[in-house]
Amino acid sequence: MSENPILRIAVNVPLSREFDYLPPTSEPLPVAGQRVLVPFGRRQQVGLVMGYSNNSDIPLKKLKRCAELLDDAPLFSEENLWLIQFTSDYYHHPIGEVVAAALPFLLRQGRSLHPAVEKYVASELPDSFDFAALTKRAPKQAELLEALLDADSVGLDADQLNEMLPKWRGAGKGLTNKGLMSSFECHADAFDEQLVSATSPDLTLNEHQQDALSVLRCSNQFGAYLLDGVTGSGKTEVYLQRVQDILKQGKQVLILVPEIGLTPQLVARLSDRLGLCPALLHSGLSDNARLTAWRAAQSGTAHLVVGTRSAIFTPMSKLGLIIVDEEHDQSFKQQEGLRYSARDLAIARAKHQDIPVILGSATPTLEILQHCRNSTYKHILLPARAGGASPPTLRLIDTVRTPVTDGISEPLAEAIRRALSADGQVLIFLNRRGFAPTLICSTCGHIAGCERCDSRLTVHSRSRQLRCHHCGACRALKEQCDECGEVVRPLGEGTERLEDTLRHRFPNAVINRIDSDSTQHKGAMDAALQSATSGEADILIGTQMLSKGHHFPALTLVGVVNADQGLFGTDFRSGERMAQSIIQVAGRAGREDRPGEVLIQTAFPENKFWRTLMAGGYRQLSDNALAEREITRWPPFTRLALIRSAAHQHSDAHRLLDIAKRYLDNNADNALRVLGPVDAPMARKAGRYRAQLLLQSSDRSTLHRVLKELRLIMESDPAARKVRWSIDVDPVELF
Ligand code: ADP
Ligand code: ZN
Repeated sequence: MSENPILRIAVNVPLSREFDYLPPTSEPLPVAGQRVLVPFGRRQQVGLVMGYSNNSDIPLKKLKRCAELLDDAPLFSEENLWLIQFTSDYYHHPIGEVVAAALPFLLRQGRSLHPAVEKYVASELPDSFDFAALTKRAPKQAELLEALLDADSVGLDADQLNEMLPKWRGAGKGLTNKGLMSSFECHADAFDEQLVSATSPDLTLNEHQQDALSVLRCSNQFGAYLLDGVTGSGKTEVYLQRVQDILKQGKQVLILVPEIGLTPQLVARLSDRLGLCPALLHSGLSDNARLTAWRAAQSGTAHLVVGTRSAIFTPMSKLGLIIVDEEHDQSFKQQEGLRYSARDLAIARAKHQDIPVILGSATPTLEILQHCRNSTYKHILLPARAGGASPPTLRLIDTVRTPVTDGISEPLAEAIRRALSADGQVLIFLNRRGFAPTLICSTCGHIAGCERCDSRLTVHSRSRQLRCHHCGACRALKEQCDECGEVVRPLGEGTERLEDTLRHRFPNAVINRIDSDSTQHKGAMDAALQSATSGEADILIGTQMLSKGHHFPALTLVGVVNADQGLFGTDFRSGERMAQSIIQVAGRAGREDRPGEVLIQTAFPENKFWRTLMAGGYRQLSDNALAEREITRWPPFTRLALIRSAAHQHSDAHRLLDIAKRYLDNNADNALRVLGPVDAPMARKAGRYRAQLLLQSSDRSTLHRVLKELRLIMESDPAARKVRWSIDVDPVELF
């Protein structure tokens, strides 16, 4: 190292570069993977040391010095830094923002890896203390005091109190003023892997599961394995036994799960079987809890880490296996800011660290299936349901030829009646929340639209509101038309309306609506899932949220209402998506001994999509779709990048993309196809006009070379100042 080492530091700003600094004056010298505090503009910022260099474009005299070293030891190893750098390069995203995405909030803020936590305790009560009087005068304070007395000298931290008594702070002030409560600082609790005493025994794997496990056991080195098993085929059982192998070797396992709801059931199963508590990393946790879990993963204290998307960046010192459960789920792709795919990064990370990665799904994406065809990934099939369960039967209901009342056709109503009288549970799937998607005037035909988006407002009857599902705008629901003052009426069905219909038709049934509106407050989702799992709920009405991964033992009938939503979609992936969501929701039916039945309401029963699905299932649909994509040259046969831009003025949104387009025209490359710029399919959203430029190439390196140049050009162009713009590599949605 030279005498004057210069540190290359990633700072959380939207610029595609690292910044040069001199080390802090005090020892020791920071090393790669440690955080430092640096002067940046007029403020100080937290930065991450990425490495050293011997020279800088900035004259030595002008180089600023780091103010402070924040960590005793590197947070990220070389391997982890590789993933950060790879992410920045592959997604053409500023390195400092990638580092920020990889750090838990408190570390991003510059807090210590082992932060002090404030704990609250009850003071010693005077003999004369009259608890009854306090209960009478200030019941909240009495409640808090009781909780603190129960916790004794260990005390309770803010997270715990928030959980127990959400509004405890006010009461806390009162108690403190009376001298009845005090606080002290201590180190954050260490993560406890807490052995659960009674563990459930391994199931005896069936023949297919056994074969799958043997393939997975072949190697502890890199390999990408697609565990392609029909719903209920026992994929989770196979993961569990493979996880046990890796844990026995003393290594760590990272399991990535989709965003919503799945975690509680999976976590219960993991801890029951493996006898240890996984460290959890997801957005529902408090910052402190998240940091505790992150630290445990980083240090190797936690052997099993279960997390959503961003957990892919978690440093793990002894990582031996990554599992991506429900590989096809779109929530693995971040749709804003750093637009990464956690699934794809999992594969890249596994390859770099030379460990296996298992991708599980009943409806694998065409990208992964194509890799299997090319033999770059291993395709493992579980063709039958595990245990005694048989596959559900699918049947179409022609909604043009059969009577439909308020969204429910006669045959479906009849099937619900039958299922209920046989003590079965019913799930009605409709991927549209609210009461109705449209509010129309009966006289002039005016449709209530969002003022800030090119979209209709959804009627929400429970809250008596009209809401925009794109920008969140919301206003009171009125009975009269804005234009002519005549009576308006809701058109079409959402989950709220279906709930009303079903309550009316089945007054004795316990009906549970499960969508993002009904599960907003804390604990609501868990409670809903609990009542679904226990069989207490007779009819479940749900959106996509309910279609994923759940295991409801009593469920025998699934009804899909308004199944045609994706049939005529504009995105080349609409068909794939729709097939995935139908198969996934159908897969909730008949997972135990009673057979499952799936009824699908469609106005187009003759459509090729339905015919293929009924005859050949997901396999046939995906085979056909791959053949089509090969001819039309869409992914996975080509690669895409989408450059998006949004601005208050239509012309501003287009100007930056025009500049990009001109550059591409002047540097024409045969391997690159450029489409646009055009207005986005929803041209105005949240008050901004949106435009996009699509880059397509069959050659990955061409695409990335071009994107790298474009990023720098756009970043430095004055036209960029008026716009929000982004590069989306491997976009999963083309708008
Ligand atoms: P998937 O993850 O493929 O949807 P699961 O692993 O959840 O499937 O298994 C579905 C059901 O079958 C669960 O109730 C599970 O306990 C049961 N099961 C899985 N494997 C076996 C087996 N080998 N023998 C008996 N039951 C099994
Ligand atoms: Zn809107």
